[in-house]
Formats: sequence, structure tokens, C-alpha cells
Amino acid sequence: WLCCQLGQNPRAMLGLPTILIDKYLYAMRLSDETLLDVMARFRREMKNGLSRDFNPTAAVKMLPTFVRSIPDGSEKGDFIALDLGGSYFRILRVKVSHEKKQTVQMESEIYNTPEDIMHGSGTRLFDHVAECLGDFMEKQQIKDKKLPVGFTFSFPCRQTKLDEGILITWTKRFKASGVEGADVVKLLNKAIKKRGDYDADIMAVVNDTVGTMMTCGFDDQRCEVGLIIGTGTNACYMEEMRHIDLVEGDEGRMCINTEWGAFGDDGSLEDIRTEFDREIDRGSLNPGKQLFEKMVSGLYMGELVRLILVKMAKEGLLFEGRITPELLTKGKFETKHVSAIEKSKEGLNKAKEILTRLGVEPSHEDCIAVQHVCTIVSFRSANLVASTLGAILNQLRDNKGVGRLRTTVGVDGSLYKMHPQYARRLHKTTRRLVPDSEVRFLLSESGSGKGAAMVTAVAYRLAEQHRL
Ligand code: BGC
Ligand code: MG
Repeated sequence: WLCCQLGQNPRAMLGLPTILIDKYLYAMRLSDETLLDVMARFRREMKNGLSRDFNPTAAVKMLPTFVRSIPDGSEKGDFIALDLGGSYFRILRVKVSHEKKQTVQMESEIYNTPEDIMHGSGTRLFDHVAECLGDFMEKQQIKDKKLPVGFTFSFPCRQTKLDEGILITWTKRFKASGVEGADVVKLLNKAIKKRGDYDADIMAVVNDTVGTMMTCGFDDQRCEVGLIIGTGTNACYMEEMRHIDLVEGDEGRMCINTEWGAFGDDGSLEDIRTEFDREIDRGSLNPGKQLFEKMVSGLYMGELVRLILVKMAKEGLLFEGRITPELLTKGKFETKHVSAIEKSKEGLNKAKEILTRLGVEPSHEDCIAVQHVCTIVSFRSANLVASTLGAILNQLRDNKGVGRLRTTVGVDGSLYKMHPQYARRLHKTTRRLVPDSEVRFLLSESGSGKGAAMVTAVAYRLAEQHRL
């Protein structure tokens, strides 16, 4: 029918004009009206998650983090930060000194986490973490010290205090057995004890969003939101204690880890999910869960594009209908390819390279078409994040009772950092959806580890005061 619409002979058609791709993927092109609606829905989800009555059944968990303020500049000391759950498993040593001005010195190592460890037993996973920590301390020659450790653990955890984190459910690439429902601090302590070659004092479990907010808060006191758009997606923000039913007390604020990746898990996004989103979910490690995350984040974006290309090729709309085993292989088209293809200058050449490697012998028109598919998928992601972020910004504005919100959002994550257009589109859509605001987006230069060390430093300072 596409050809008929064009009044063209199918054979004469070299590739699909972008306007027809727009039509083909109309369900992925969300209008501002829809985005505002999604924003309103997420605002209701936030409210439910915060309330005592609705939290148990809420899809968006709104987890209290027991982080009550951003760094005040008086923190100091020598800390270790573990960062597990993002693109890399990283261990850092963070030295915070305090001569005239607070300065931070960091050294770090990246460790591999092989798939069989991510999918094996929890005991093995934590043995692996403890082994890497031992290696790191050996290299730093601090095995004889008992340094305070901050644990950035980028998964949804229930906390009743800073140094406890009960894993609710694994997300992204992880699925180790026997950890869900358990306290990851206890599991790590056990693994360290079992080795017996060093000691560690785990002071805090910190979600990566919280680590990012704290890292950026170090440079900008106005930072009160932490946002991750990487392998997974999530955000945290500073909420008024009086709105947090699950924690006693009404004074001051506490950071809430929204766990917005689970938005839609109760069916509230069914009207905007497409056949491709459902297929992604079916093929994932956690079907039925993290449905918003699967429409947005880097672990899934390349695969979303691949599924669309397969369908279009099968219908003869791309590659003259050529379908290769590579094109049909899950994971063969990655999010980093989406980023490469959307580069303004080299994008089309990259498309040619990447598609040629998939064996589909793309024409120039195919490359233009594939670039357009990438744009639609990544734009949808940025638009959806703008909606949920917009809901948080409106909440902050209402909490402060001001007409116009001035705030800073700390951001980290591979997709946000690597994609050539993503950040700009996100900023633009956010400002359009929340016009009465002045939002600064601050890239976390050093990831969430520095922030985890900050949280640890505050905890350590408080514990010291307590001991005295
Ligand atoms: C996790 C969050 C995390 C986010 C970004 C999600 O899958 O549930 O806890 O913050 O990924 O890493
Ligand atoms: Mg990370």
C-alpha cells in the first residue's frame, strides 16, 4: 500500500521516504499532548508510591534512601566506593581533604563481571565482588586498614537505614539466585569474612541515582535530582519528609529513589507500548517488569531498532527484502550503533558500515531510512524521560510553593553521554513540558562513586560523633 500511496512501481522504489517511516512508526512518535498525559500519570504514581496505603501495590516504589542532605562541605577522610550494576563494575578510592577548600582525589579500577557470575548463585557473585575488592586493596596497599566503604548498588532496594539494602528484584543484566529479599550488605560482609585476608566497614548502600545527585551536589548546592540514562534508567530527588509516609518524622527532606523503570508494570502504559516493546519484554530476563525502562534505556534501544528493521525487511520495505542470520540475531544491533548512526556528519557512513556487517547490502536510501528509524526510537526515549522528569520537577516546585522552579539535575549514564543528540533533545522537551522552570542539567563527570563516598563520609562523620 505504501507504493500505491506514492503512485510508484514497487521496483522503482529504492528506499522508503522518511515521511512513510513516520507513518509506519506513528505509535512511537508521541505528541506533546501524550507526553503531558504521561507526565500526569507518573505524578499520580509518585503519590501512590509515597503513601502508606498504596505503596504495597504501587508499581513505582518511591524508596526512601535515608540520605537527608547533600554534602555540606565539611566531609573528609579516606574511603572506598564499590559501583556495581552499571555498564562497569568499578572500585574507587576517594580521598577527601579539607585544607581551605574541600578537594577530592580519586583512583579507580574496572573489573569484569562475566555473564555466568551475573546469572549464577548470589554467593558466587558476592565472592567475586569481595575478591575484586581484595585485589584493589592489595594494589592500593591498604589491606591492613579498615577503610569505610560506600556501596553503589544500582538496583531497587528497601532500606530502613543507610547501611542496609534488601534487594527487591534484579533488573537489567543481573539475575543471580538467592539475593532477592536479602540484605546485600550482609551478603558482602559474609563474603569478606569468609576470605579473612582484609577487613571492611560497609557504611552505606547507595543507588547510582543518589550517588550521581551527591556527586553533582558537591559542585552545585542546588542539585536535588539525580538522573541515570544508561544501561537502565532511574531518578531520585529530595522529597519533603511530611510526604514520606513510610519514614517517621515530618521535618526536613529525604532523598527518594523513585525506581521509575518499573513505571507501567501495572498496565498503566499499555496504550503507548508497541508490538516491539512487547517483543523486547518477552525476550528479556525479567518479563513483565521494568516496562518503562525497556522503552527507554540503553540495554534495549539497539534491540528495539533491530526488531523494527527485521519487520520492515520482511515486508520488503528495507534492503530489498534481504534478511540475514546476523540481522535476525538478538543483540547484533547495539545501542552504540544507534549513537553512531545518529551522528550528524558521519552518521550515514556509519549506517552503511554497520548494516554491511549485518550482510544486508544496504542502498543509500536504506541507510537514510535506518537512520530515521534510529531517530524515532531514541527521540521517543528522550521524550519519555522528559515526561517523568517533568513530573518530578513539578513536585519539587509545588513542594517549595514557588511559581517558578530553579533547580539542578545531576545526570549520568552511557546513553545520555554517548548519544550525539540525546541530551539536547531531553533538555529541550523538558523545558517545553515544564515551561515555568529554570533547569540546569549537570553531567556527573566522575560517575556516582564520588557521591557514594560522600554519603559514606557523612555517615562516618555521624557515626564518629556518636562514638565520642
Ligand atoms: C535499577 C535502578 C538503577 C537504574 C540505573 C534500574 O534497572 O532498577 O536501581 O538506578 O537501573 O542504573
Ligand atoms: Mg553507573
